[in-house]
Amino acid sequence: MSQSDLEKQALALQQRAYAPYSKFRVGAAVRADGRVFEGANVENASYGLAICAERTAMFAAVLAGCRQLEEVVVCTDVSPPSSPCGACRQVLAEFATDPARVTVTAINGKGERRSWTLAQLLPDSFSGRELP
Ligand SMILES: [Zn+2]
Repeated sequence: MSQSDLEKQALALQQRAYAPYSKFRVGAAVRADGRVFEGANVENASYGLAICAERTAMFAAVLAGCRQLEEVVVCTDVSPPSSPCGACRQVLAEFATDPARVTVTAINGKGERRSWTLAQLLPDSFSGRELP
């Protein structure tokens, strides 16, 4: 299977990661409202301030006024390719009208690929519907 444009972007975005402490470089590309948004992880000497690639990409989409999440690709160096962390799954779910229709694909530079729906990654998720 050939790489999709979104996968190529996530792979390229990994080069923009700022990960001098963990060395765990991550690139992410999300499509929302038909547009593509870029993300990479950004660490800090105060470790707890780091933010993941998936969230930087999703927040860029929201800032551009695009809140309808359609697809996510995340690129790491590990094998098998790493899925998004729990915090990112929750943030992505916030902007997925139907998490069963949002595809999350994890890739690495070796051409390996894993894929899920967001509903598979975060079943029975907490949402704003739970709030009074
Ligand atoms: Zn994360």
